[in-house]
Amino acid sequence: MVVSGPSGVGKGTVVEHAMSGRSAAARRLRRSVSVTTRPRRAGEREGRDYFFRSPDEFKRMAASGELLEWASYLGHQYGTPREWVDRQLEAGYDIVLEIEVQGAMQVREHRPEAVLVYMLPPSWRALRQRLKLRRSEAAEIQQRRIEVATQEFEYVRNYHYVIVNDRVAKAARQLLAILSAERARVGRADLDWLPAENSD
Ligand code: 5GP
Repeated sequence: MVVSGPSGVGKGTVVEHAMSGRSAAARRLRRSVSVTTRPRRAGEREGRDYFFRSPDEFKRMAASGELLEWASYLGHQYGTPREWVDRQLEAGYDIVLEIEVQGAMQVREHRPEAVLVYMLPPSWRALRQRLKLRRSEAAEIQQRRIEVATQEFEYVRNYHYVIVNDRVAKAARQLLAILSAERARVGRADLDWLPAENSD
């Protein structure tokens, strides 16, 4: 599953909340940790929030096919390590990628089975307020993030679902509901145990 949405919309909080639940869908859920060249923010931890790498190392990883997708965002590179994702999927987990739209479009192309979810703020005003509360960035960077968000909205129609994050618990419930529904799709469900046609 891909979850995109403007910076500050609360993707991470909603995904964390969804993973902390006790339902089968929640326990099957894992979150991919991306590689990035952007500097670490206060409170962020290597390997938990991101793998922080130099631009040279990132370039090497991208060139050698280690990344499932990657994109530039406000002057830094971000990418998804391919091997971890594939191993988890093979083990039966549902994987969430919290990535921006260019990366999401690459995933859609290479993995047509991926489910794309776009998370919206209840309003623009709410989004600006949340970015301000974050306080981890200069006002100028916040402004650029808002501008990028405006451009990103044009891609919403390439996604399968939208979730409005007006309440974290509700948005997390919707995310899990989407996962459960997608699991039940005829094309995805395990139907091998059904009797073959004319088997009697
Ligand atoms: P931030 O710097 O706020 O952590 O992330 C900036 C943007 O990059 C967010 O929209 C975030 O979802 C996105 N992002 C994080 N990791 C990846 C990744 O691996 N690939 C892509 N394409 N975008 C990512």
